[in-house]
Amino acid sequence: MSILNQLQENFPDLDFREQYLLTKQTYFKIGGYAEVYLELDQKEKIIEVISFCKKNKIKITILGGASNVVISDDGISGLVLHLKNNQLVDLNQVTQKKQYLVKAGAGLKTSLLVKKTVDLGYTGLEFFLGVPGTVGGAIFNNAHYLEDLISDHVHQVEIITESGDVKTISADECEFSYDASRFHHTNEIILEVTFALKKGSLEKSQELIKKATQYRADTQPLGLPSSGCIFKNTPNSPELKKLFPMFESRKFISAGFLIDRAGLKGTKVGGVEVSKKHAAFFINSGDGTAVDLKKLIKLVKKEVNNKFNIDLEEEVFYLS
Ligand SMILES: Cc1cc2nc3c(=O)[nH]c(=O)nc-3n(C[C@H](O)[C@H](O)[C@H](O)COP(=O)(O)OP(=O)(O)OC[C@H]3O[C@@H](n4cnc5c(N)ncnc54)[C@H](O)[C@@H]3O)c2cc1C
Repeated sequence: MSILNQLQENFPDLDFREQYLLTKQTYFKIGGYAEVYLELDQKEKIIEVISFCKKNKIKITILGGASNVVISDDGISGLVLHLKNNQLVDLNQVTQKKQYLVKAGAGLKTSLLVKKTVDLGYTGLEFFLGVPGTVGGAIFNNAHYLEDLISDHVHQVEIITESGDVKTISADECEFSYDASRFHHTNEIILEVTFALKKGSLEKSQELIKKATQYRADTQPLGLPSSGCIFKNTPNSPELKKLFPMFESRKFISAGFLIDRAGLKGTKVGGVEVSKKHAAFFINSGDGTAVDLKKLIKLVKKEVNNKFNIDLEEEVFYLS
């Protein structure tokens, strides 16, 4: 029986779509069809469908905002589940550290999470206003603004385990580090996230938002199809400190800086180009494909390695 038939038979009330084009869903405007596609906003239904897939060995791929993915031109096999559970609840609980707990669905847009928590009078998340995508995607890769990590504000995470059970884990158990979390290797799905925030002032929060928004507008090619930074920043090292003494005290050297110094701004393969504004951003000029993008990634990695003996590592996730 096909995957679509299995799912329709067990969930006749849900709107599964067969061979659903994902190109327009992604920030990069790249990628083929989902074998089966479903959007879900109800937590209980999300749990039921995921548990069913896990138990019946149906391949499942989670999409949040699709702002940090490279979807294959051949599409994604199995079920693509687009999470839309976007509720936000003020738990009205205070921790021993005098932090206030707020719970968000994984499908809530990160920018809305910021706006809503600021409206509730809390502070901590302002710098994440310009991170596209959802809370689930932000937790999966531990979204960052400069050296501020979203994990610094996480209390606990509700997940669906590999065996289809629902479980709550603490922030410590998430194994967060720069651009990483346990979710990269566990196949677990992030369902809801509880944040621990301080009481703030609307005026100060608005100032922080303005500062971060201005920084992004000044440094990033916003409004053009991209996946943000293609590469992670590189841990600083004695060799890099010797080459770039002005960054002596930094923990990381920006991938964009290294790509720029390798003279690669504006380099193009097919319809994908290294941005002239921010060299870690690659831009789709309209007809770019995942194949073009992968070729450009390979070329940039090779040139940067030749020049600085550094292996750039992708920040984006390949889905197929
Ligand atoms: C213009 C632009 C600016 C950006 N700026 C920043 C920035 O400042 N800082 C930063 O960190 N990133 C930035 N990014 C990258 C990206 O927006 C973030 O990584 C974002 O948090 C990804 O969220 P998403 O919902 O779009 O994830 P998606 O792209 O949908 O998914 C990314 C990965 O997470 C997995 N995933 C998503 N949701 C779940 C879930 N609920 N459970 C399990 N797995 C899940 C997916 O399967 C996929 O492997 C930027 C991107 C763009 C286009």
